[in-house]
Amino acid sequence: MQVDWYFQLLNPLVFLIFAGGFVCIYMMRANRASLVFAASYTVGAVAFFVDVLFQHSTSVPIRTTVAGLYAVTAILLVCGIWRHYRGPAPWRALVGLLIVHLAVYASLLSLDTPWIRSLSVNFGCGMIFLFGVAAMKGRQTHTFDTLLYCVHITNCVLCFARPVVVALFVGEPITSENHSEELLLVSLHLFAAAAAVVTGMLLLAVLSHDIFEELRESSITDPLTGLLNRRGLDIAANKLVSKVPSQRFTMVIADLDHFKAINDSFGHAAGDHVIASVGQIIRNLSRKTGTVGRIGGEEFVVLLPDSKLVDAVKLAEQTGDALRSLRVENVSPYLSVTASFGVAEYCTSEDLSSLFMRADHALYLAKSNGRDCVRSEADLAVHDLAKFRQGDKIGSVNAEEAFTKGKASLSPASENASQ
Ligand code: GH3
Ligand code: MG
Ligand code: MG
Repeated sequence: MQVDWYFQLLNPLVFLIFAGGFVCIYMMRANRASLVFAASYTVGAVAFFVDVLFQHSTSVPIRTTVAGLYAVTAILLVCGIWRHYRGPAPWRALVGLLIVHLAVYASLLSLDTPWIRSLSVNFGCGMIFLFGVAAMKGRQTHTFDTLLYCVHITNCVLCFARPVVVALFVGEPITSENHSEELLLVSLHLFAAAAAVVTGMLLLAVLSHDIFEELRESSITDPLTGLLNRRGLDIAANKLVSKVPSQRFTMVIADLDHFKAINDSFGHAAGDHVIASVGQIIRNLSRKTGTVGRIGGEEFVVLLPDSKLVDAVKLAEQTGDALRSLRVENVSPYLSVTASFGVAEYCTSEDLSSLFMRADHALYLAKSNGRDCVRSEADLAVHDLAKFRQGDKIGSVNAEEAFTKGKASLSPASENASQ
């Protein structure tokens, strides 16, 4: 066996390695695009292998099969891209293109003009790649998407340009005899392999990035309501403060009243349904800019940027009204939901935990004032604040400590919040 044979086998091997990579991604996150990419790279490996095996063959069926395998590789690649960025791929159009492409290629095989055949192969692949360009257009959300888009456009342009350039710059005319040794064939293989490796690496990066994003998203999302969980809210609040330390924003804490009784009377599933409905109502009322999270069993927090205490009190009152008129028909027409609210405004450069403390304290005031009402830090009596500063304990946290030293996050300030 000749040494260059081994080198030529590198291409199918590299394609198979990438196919394995896509199968691994599929096993981590069963999305169909990964499987289609795996199929594309497997067919690509077969195409290269058959091509190397029959590289001197002039048989029309063999040459057409090889061209067909390369075209199917490109079609599967484009289908995977389409599925990832848009949804179901345009199979019919692509199969139609494949048939026309192979018919033109087979009809040109009888002519002793390899560069025209090469032109037809490249032109066909270029047309297929155009579908990939269309699929990715305007769908870039991160750097890997943009890089993949640029590389794919480059591949597409090169498919159209390469045979023309080779035909113009190769000195002697290319014939059937010198064709396989010529720059045309060598460049075809080198270019296709390099393009496939770069594309494969970027596809793996795009798919891995999506998995990472999904994990990050789920680590900060409350599955019942789709709102931020305590961790997500912590991150959002710290971002808010670190971006503009001097900005005005407010915090509203809502705690459903006698929720235990709802669970006891209607069951835990009904309770879950109520929590999800309440989360939706708070989300809808909290303006587009509001950050909403569920920080405990039946406790919610809203952060309202660019707002004053009075704006947050208004939002809390609106939310209270909406909850009072909430009818959870599929649970029971007799079920009524109310909540108590505590509101506080951020003071420049203060620690987030002290803001949370004030809002939580106002919430306690609302609870002790009969529930189903809104209380803000302005309602906290002076003696309350004094008591607050003298080491009074709210829930499990020493209030004075939180007020004076502060803590870095919205950590649980009350037992109520520690569900
Ligand atoms: P209060 O008016 O003083 O707030 O009374 P409450 O009954 O709402 O307060 P408490 O904190 O004593 O009870 C909260 C209840 O919420 C207890 C717990 O069973 C329930 N709970 C916590 N998480 C969930 C959840 O995810 N789903 C459901 N259905 N119930 C939950
Ligand atoms: Mg409650
Ligand atoms: Mg509670």
